[in-house]
Amino acid sequence: MTRTRIVHVLESTQIGGRFTVMGWVRTKRDAKGGFSFLEVNDGSCLRNLQVIAEQTLENYDTVVRKCHTGSAIRVTGVLAESPGKGQRVELHAEEVELLGWADPETYPLQKKRHSFEFLRTIAHLRPRTNTFGAVARVRNAVSRAIHEFFQERGFLYLHTPIISGSDCEGAGEMFRVTTLDLGRIPKKGDEVDFSRDFFGVPANLTVSGQLEAEIYALALGDVYTFGPTFRAENSNTARHLAEFWMVEPEMAFCDLGGNIDLAVAFLKFIFAYVLEHCEEDMAFFNRFIDPTVLQTLDDLVAQDFEVLSYTEGIDLLSKSKEPFEFPVAWGADLQSEHERYLCEKVFGGPVILVDYPKEIKAFYMKMNEDGKTVRAMDVLVPKIGEIIGGSQREDDHDTLLGRMRETGLDPADYWWYLDLRKYGSVPHSGFGLGFERLIQFITGLSNIRDVIPFPRTPGNLGFRTGPQER
Ligand code: ATP
Ligand code: MN
Repeated sequence: MTRTRIVHVLESTQIGGRFTVMGWVRTKRDAKGGFSFLEVNDGSCLRNLQVIAEQTLENYDTVVRKCHTGSAIRVTGVLAESPGKGQRVELHAEEVELLGWADPETYPLQKKRHSFEFLRTIAHLRPRTNTFGAVARVRNAVSRAIHEFFQERGFLYLHTPIISGSDCEGAGEMFRVTTLDLGRIPKKGDEVDFSRDFFGVPANLTVSGQLEAEIYALALGDVYTFGPTFRAENSNTARHLAEFWMVEPEMAFCDLGGNIDLAVAFLKFIFAYVLEHCEEDMAFFNRFIDPTVLQTLDDLVAQDFEVLSYTEGIDLLSKSKEPFEFPVAWGADLQSEHERYLCEKVFGGPVILVDYPKEIKAFYMKMNEDGKTVRAMDVLVPKIGEIIGGSQREDDHDTLLGRMRETGLDPADYWWYLDLRKYGSVPHSGFGLGFERLIQFITGLSNIRDVIPFPRTPGNLGFRTGPQER
């Protein structure tokens, strides 16, 4: 069964050539004059191929008459210029075969536009819609661009563990991994006896590959990870998932300035790549999801990113007359309303905030000379807020040890991390980019659940839970 992908048929100049395509019928329309129009999609591109099936076809009654929206078919036909509006070419069927019938009475995807909420309840069928097909193709293109960007710059792709023994940053935000029988948990006094668990110690799903990436950066120079991360934070927002993908470059011999430069070059590369390689899907998002996405990406490729300190950011926010829900004060974490205000109202573009108070950032960020702030950087973008969080890492052994004690971490748990500051320590930096936040920003989709194939959020584990509204 050799088939040609519809994207190639639509681009073909071989008028009169014979092609076999396979795909799913999006719509069928019976026209006067004894023929039917079938709009066929195979996922290779957004557009459908228009197939003309004449009633004179041998199996017209047994096949063409029976296939409806959702049916899978195979068509062999001759490519012709299309007299109709909306497509350059069409396929004149010589043979139509029904591969898999779909009952039009019960097929959940009808011609009308469905709500994203409804589509979330049919994650097994939503990739057959225009929006989710386009999201899947853009995710694929961006993944490829991520590897291209780093590979071209000599970064090494590093695979960091999914199961982690350290509870580094996200104490309380981690998913426990265990083979203990939850009905009969072994105890030693009041405590769980983890010596009887699979690893003999508590284990979690990773919240970040950073600490392991630092190990490899301090041996191989420039590395990056691109893998799944897990956070059990109970934040039911449009920007948080319990399982999401993160890109984390880590660079030896690199300070915060170099880190910022890399983040900016990285984002520009991705946006330019998407504009070049996902033209059709991006035009779709711009037309049906958010009419500003194309202009925004265009601007970002050309624009400079504003860099200012957290302290300057707080000043701007305190002076503003905006009625924020959360108070603004030096020392407090910025909420996404604050981040968005800076991007959307003050600068009209992306903003990079640096030098945050140490109290609201992780223990491993490099201390500034003022003793109050650390060399952190958050990249903020309009509509989303934080898309990247990063820092220069503390490379001084004693300062790091002091920060661990200050933040209540047991240095004994991080003996290996401290070792890296004892043996050949060098300035190094890195950041974490949330892949789904990036895809949200690119596509304009407002809910993060709609930019990942199978979203995991509190109380929602795909097919196992969730309403079945029909
Ligand atoms: P936020 O304050 O928005 O929750 P964070 O400060 O917890 O983010 P980091 O720990 O710095 O985020 O993680 C790096 C990046 O990972 C973030 O900039 C964001 O793009 C992404 N990210 C973080 N948490 C989530 C989540 N729950 N779902 C999806 N992406 C996330
Ligand atoms: Mn978070």
